[in-house]
Amino acid sequence: MPLVLPVVWSDDCLLHEPGGEVWIGLPDPGVEGPERVQTIRKTLVEAGATVVQAQPHDDENLLSVHDQGLVSYLRDAWSLWEQAGYPQDPGQNRVVPYLFPHPGLLGEQEVSLPTAMSARAGMYAFDTMSPIGPGTWTAARAAVDVALTAADLVADGTRVAYACTRPPGHHVTRGAFGGSCYLNSSAVAAERLRGHGFSTVAIVDIDAHQGNGAQSIFWNRDDVLTGSVHVDPRAGWFPHFLGFETENRETNRNVPLEPGTGDTGWVAAVAELAEWARDADALVVALGVDAAENDETSPLRVTAEGFRDGGRSLGGLGLPTVVVQEGGYDLDALGGLVLAALEGIEEGMPRRA
Ligand SMILES: [Zn+2]
Repeated sequence: MPLVLPVVWSDDCLLHEPGGEVWIGLPDPGVEGPERVQTIRKTLVEAGATVVQAQPHDDENLLSVHDQGLVSYLRDAWSLWEQAGYPQDPGQNRVVPYLFPHPGLLGEQEVSLPTAMSARAGMYAFDTMSPIGPGTWTAARAAVDVALTAADLVADGTRVAYACTRPPGHHVTRGAFGGSCYLNSSAVAAERLRGHGFSTVAIVDIDAHQGNGAQSIFWNRDDVLTGSVHVDPRAGWFPHFLGFETENRETNRNVPLEPGTGDTGWVAAVAELAEWARDADALVVALGVDAAENDETSPLRVTAEGFRDGGRSLGGLGLPTVVVQEGGYDLDALGGLVLAALEGIEEGMPRRA
């Protein structure tokens, strides 16, 4: 069966070139590059999918989930960095923070805007592995437009739409970015669906790392449910400080899994989240496929068949569904893993009477 769902795309998503990252203080080549979505798109087109161009949307959509300060910073960071001369002296051609206004540093004092751009870089970033270069803003902004266009298609009656997008976004909170993410496209898509009249939207995040961004953004809301299945942060995995069962409440659900968990445990966890989201009016799937067996960024061991089965559970809800690409870094397997998940969602959808 050819893939029916539209694959929403923007060439601008290719413009973010991290050029590596700083991980535990050392330069690391990194794994989040433009070739990720290129290989996914190629596989999906070969499977019969139709590519739909993303439409531009107002910044108002961003401000429904992000603070103006974060949005303005991301928009201007590269040009301010360049103006300040850092690419020449000391020769850093990406925006990378070195100092953070940690609550323990500030004590009772309010944070104020620092003069040096090198210090400003720490105001909105929570790690050192999410560098900003000349194309980062354009790409992250395009990633949001891709997700918004997918949400619009679903609001117009398409049952499932897939946002083939990068850089990923699910670690970004209202006011801070990190984890190779800049703007939270999944969260923006959920708000868009709310705006289109879906009363309750569930975000189910199946990336190998907790969807801390949506959890934080929608913490005080009961119209956007946030659920995440991921490797247990207690076992030593990003985002380390969050993603525990102790954070669970009626509107938020974490299902942490032991390292080494394969198809059986992972598929059961996705089914549990799907069941939990059953009463929502629309679904956003934050589709990371880095839980895959050969993905170096997580110790989970899910196969393509596992992603297909997980997809069937989510599709089985029969909800209008926006699927947004998050992580997934095993380039050789990436296209096939995403295809398996999307086919599973389509197969799981109840037949229309
Ligand atoms: Zn991930």
